Amino acid sequence: MNVLVINCGSSSLKYQVIDASSEQVLAKGLCERIGIDGRLTYQPAGGEKEVSDIPMPTHKEAVRLVLEALVNEKTGALKALSDIDAVGHRIVHGGEKFTKSTLIDDQVIAAVEECNDLAPLHNPANIIGIAACRELMPGVPMVGVFDTAFHQTMPAEAYMYAVPYEYYEKYKIRRYGFHGTSHSFVSKRICEVAGKELGSTKTIVCHLGNGASVSAVLNGESVDTSMGLSPLEGLVMGTRSGDIDPSAIEFFAQKEGLDLAGAVEVLNKKSGVFGVSGVSSDFRDLSDAASKGNERAKIALDLFSYRVAKYVGAYAAAMNGVDLIAFTAGIGENDPGVREAVCKRLGYLGVELDLEQNNTKGQELRISTEASKVGVYVIPTNEELAIARETVALVA
Ligand code: ADP
Repeated sequence: MNVLVINCGSSSLKYQVIDASSEQVLAKGLCERIGIDGRLTYQPAGGEKEVSDIPMPTHKEAVRLVLEALVNEKTGALKALSDIDAVGHRIVHGGEKFTKSTLIDDQVIAAVEECNDLAPLHNPANIIGIAACRELMPGVPMVGVFDTAFHQTMPAEAYMYAVPYEYYEKYKIRRYGFHGTSHSFVSKRICEVAGKELGSTKTIVCHLGNGASVSAVLNGESVDTSMGLSPLEGLVMGTRSGDIDPSAIEFFAQKEGLDLAGAVEVLNKKSGVFGVSGVSSDFRDLSDAASKGNERAKIALDLFSYRVAKYVGAYAAAMNGVDLIAFTAGIGENDPGVREAVCKRLGYLGVELDLEQNNTKGQELRISTEASKVGVYVIPTNEELAIARETVALVA
């Protein structure tokens, strides 16, 4: 069974075709600048990457171009469109309605639309992508896989904000959490790799990418995670502030003459390690600058790893202990310096890092010593594969 995995942003569309039985990627790529001009990137397995500038006024043209590339006579990974057996769509916000992946029909789309309020930038784009695929591939089963679903097991003490209860009742203001597909995938995989039972293990997953979050996974279920109503809460990120006293927002908005939306935009786009360092949101640039003596880059890196360690401590408390810690995503997989800085602060938990093992990039590996009380691992995430698996589970 071949699954087309689609991840739609407001002006982009990432795709992969995965052969579900071998779990091999047959082709992958990206549509960018949808609605502006348009650029298609296509790469079949073992083949050259092709980049072409083609107009894409809407997501529909983007999907059409992807399908054409997939069945192209010379470079196409598939013989015919009928070789696509199912489509898995990443959907950012499922609110409280979606606790797991779901076969998409009109009712599901209407329910996702009701969550648009909670993710105004992401959900509408996801729905447009679904509509385009349904139109161009009628009859092909489609599955929605939600970033929020895995965290729907959080108890009220973890998901409630201490604001007037009516706000929760009327507006569904609460903590939802994101990166759920990744936290789910990595928390399962680390148990397999470490030889532990998912159902009786306390795991903390540190998903450290441009967007970053930590989750507490108790016996296979998410019981807390650092992102909240939106992906702005929690860790210090590339350009996002993470946790901040709301009074500081009122304070700087007033000083800078910003309205609320303007202030939140500063917290989303001009803050984080980028805002603190003034150098970059990319950790390669930050490490480089820090090693050349840039003080603000050093502060940004310290702020980042300190906040991760604080959340790990909080989640060890939430679960009354921790057996396994996973590092994943761009920074978690590739930056030994960040992993070391975090683990240095976790000695009291019995974490002991093996510095030699830790000196690796992008590999699935145990990086704690044999004597370490907590098993610390690098576990590369694979959200597309996770979406393909969820899709197969619902359509096969
Ligand atoms: P997202 O999916 O949230 O956009 P990723 O998980 O792809 O983010 O992570 C992107 C980030 O990973 C980059 O901004 C960069 O900071 C970091 N990164 C990627 N490769 C490396 C590397 N070799 N060393 C250090 N950091 C890296």
